[in-house]
Amino acid sequence: MRIAVLSGKGGTGKTFLAVNLALVAEEAVYADCDVEEPNGWVFLQPEITAKEQVTVKIPAVDHAKCSGCRKCVEFCRFNALAYAGKVLVFPGICHSCGGCVLLCPQQALAELDRPVGIIQHGRAGHVQVRTGYLNLGEESGVPIIAQLLAGLPAAATVIIDCPPGSSCTVLESIKDCDYCLLVAEPTRYGLDNLQMVRELVTVLKKPFGVVLNKAVPGEKLVEDYCRREQLPLLAVIPYTTELAHSIAGGEPAVKISKEYYDLFAGLLQQMGVKAREAACHPQR
Ligand code: SF4
Ligand code: SF4
Repeated sequence: MRIAVLSGKGGTGKTFLAVNLALVAEEAVYADCDVEEPNGWVFLQPEITAKEQVTVKIPAVDHAKCSGCRKCVEFCRFNALAYAGKVLVFPGICHSCGGCVLLCPQQALAELDRPVGIIQHGRAGHVQVRTGYLNLGEESGVPIIAQLLAGLPAAATVIIDCPPGSSCTVLESIKDCDYCLLVAEPTRYGLDNLQMVRELVTVLKKPFGVVLNKAVPGEKLVEDYCRREQLPLLAVIPYTTELAHSIAGGEPAVKISKEYYDLFAGLLQQMGVKAREAACHPQR
């Protein structure tokens, strides 16, 4: 089962939820797809076992073969090619579609590998940890996320720690998941962000549930919204000094008390049931 943990903004508690869910699963993979700022390792402290480079294809010009016809420049919808006495390539905005290479009548374009980041593999007890890192200055983490989520063990519970927001990197992170867990804060801003990610998972027809994190007495915006919209509110995690200290110290909540262990184990179980129901009744 693949569970994606997402929220409309950073700092809501996605990583907190994802790490603790991975720790209560029997055999788990924790996939940190927040490639611009991965920080699940802070809690899991994995032993690093391997690193792999992630590359994308970009065109390289053989100027001796190029006739200057500019067909490649006209073709590129991303303006990653220009002609100024010779063909110029702007690697940072190339989307690696390969079209220009295919259409060049002189076969003057070839594809080169360009590194955009790395994936680190590790283990923390029974949890396999995969962490994606986007190189500084790179535009898109999509190729890293695609490679990070490829070839995962089918038997394991995969917990995907998504990037914040609802952009294409989030789409890449959740597209093959069985269930989405939307993490929200009990504020007006938190509610707006919840509505945004709800829209995304609804468009993608993904089964989902909501967790209200950092709940404080009297702030019922998210709970009222879930009730009104009949959304499954799977758990409410109160804001406590004990939790704040454990997070600041990099200690997973499930290791500080049985109460939290049971909360996360129950949450994981609920999502398993709901994902199976959704698989049996995809129209619901
Ligand atoms: S399509 Fe090929 S030959 Fe024409 S400008 Fe581009 S690289 Fe040169
Ligand atoms: S590979 Fe695609 S995106 Fe990149 S330069 Fe060629 S046409 Fe443009």
